[in-house]
Amino acid sequence: MDEKSHHMTPEEFRRHGRAVVDWIADYYERIESFPVLSQVEPGDIRRSLPADPPEQGEPFEAILKDVNSVILPGVTHWQSPNFFAYFPANVSGPAILGDLLSSGLGVQGMLWATSPACTELETHVLDWLVDMLGLPDKFKSSGPGGGVIQDTASGASLCALLAAREKATGFASNESGCEGRLVAYTSNQAHSSIEKAVKIAGLGSRNLRLIDVDESFAMRADSLTAAIAEDRSAGLVPCFVCATVGTTSSNAMDPLPQIGKICRDEGLWLHVDAAMSGTAALCPEYRHIHDGLEGADSYCFNPHKWMFTNFDCDCFYVADRAALIKTLSILPEYLRNKATESGAVIDYRDWHIPLGRRFRSLKLWFVIRHYGVEGLRRHVKRHVELAREFARWVRESEDYELAVEPPLNLVCFRHRAGDEFNRKLMDALNRSGELFLTHTVLNDRFTLRFSIGGTNTRARHVSRAWERIRRVSGEV
Ligand code: PLP
Repeated sequence: MDEKSHHMTPEEFRRHGRAVVDWIADYYERIESFPVLSQVEPGDIRRSLPADPPEQGEPFEAILKDVNSVILPGVTHWQSPNFFAYFPANVSGPAILGDLLSSGLGVQGMLWATSPACTELETHVLDWLVDMLGLPDKFKSSGPGGGVIQDTASGASLCALLAAREKATGFASNESGCEGRLVAYTSNQAHSSIEKAVKIAGLGSRNLRLIDVDESFAMRADSLTAAIAEDRSAGLVPCFVCATVGTTSSNAMDPLPQIGKICRDEGLWLHVDAAMSGTAALCPEYRHIHDGLEGADSYCFNPHKWMFTNFDCDCFYVADRAALIKTLSILPEYLRNKATESGAVIDYRDWHIPLGRRFRSLKLWFVIRHYGVEGLRRHVKRHVELAREFARWVRESEDYELAVEPPLNLVCFRHRAGDEFNRKLMDALNRSGELFLTHTVLNDRFTLRFSIGGTNTRARHVSRAWERIRRVSGEV
């Protein structure tokens, strides 16, 4: 008798695979029936799981059944059209299927030689995106620059900082470590990943300057100049500036032309973090957010936020790939191969922290081909229009005010009754399960954030949310 293989046969895979695809399609059809924010208490999910793993394999149907009964209650429905929290992480059919295909192929694309298509499709699609977003040509792989898919904007910013560190020290800190004099700059509204990067890269968080901002929460260029001058006169070595296009808190846009000029004059590496908002540049009318990007050494944006592409997918570009590669390259004997030695190929393992890498460009390629640039633009434009409409309602209401004019798809607003009231209002709305929104603090005041970007969010969801907000504020 044959020994039991334990593997899923191709026929079983076909059957269960269809069931899973059906499950996902059904999920999207009924997604509005779930409370957007999971209502479970800490520990509830673990209490529903068996203490020990199964000794014997279980039928696939039993596993899928438990997804419904155990897992779903603990899911916050990021893909609900009533999800307005944090930032979008919008997914789409073509991205899910591209991701599935990537799992099916199961390749490791660390070197060109380990799967040429994995590298070449990625290079090609990232070059496409330079044109789609109107980014400077210097980020294309045809010149000395180029793009790579990173896991996250956090990873991209860290790589940018590492390359900046090496460039500033003549590539000596890779060998002898940092000696405490390198300084990095970003605004006090920048994402926390910049502080994390400064810690990881060995500069130390005390050597990160958080530059103050103007009334629109954008970095003040004059303050940056002053901070650099002060550090230089203290004998320190400024090396890196991170500007943000669309801050997390309020979507503020740092002034790239002025910051770029300062970096050029001072010889500093300029990295631009456009994690969410970069996608807006698909639309020519919003491309001004990238004015001044020619002055940047590196740039990143996340299709996994607002471009209908499943996490993880951050696009990271550098103007000088040699600096990045020299910073991160290590070539052990077991990875040596003819293609690498010929110098004719890209080996993406040298462009980020991990060695292994999935075939992530497949999902991006599927998305771009399925929607076309026109389809992507249409949805992004619609999200911005919906945010502008929501902002108009806030402006016209007596009880609410805007914290700042919304540049794109994020509206920061508050009830005039004060911090405590706004906090209670947010908690009541989120407890209702009807919608989910989050908060920030701007100018020391508790502020509600309404972020629009769900794949299935339509005008009716936004208008219903505004009605609910007003109704619930009458009950708080
Ligand atoms: N940068 C900005 C401006 C963000 O809004 C975010 C959002 O979370 C991040 C970085 C972090 O993105 P990631 O999760 O890809 O690291």
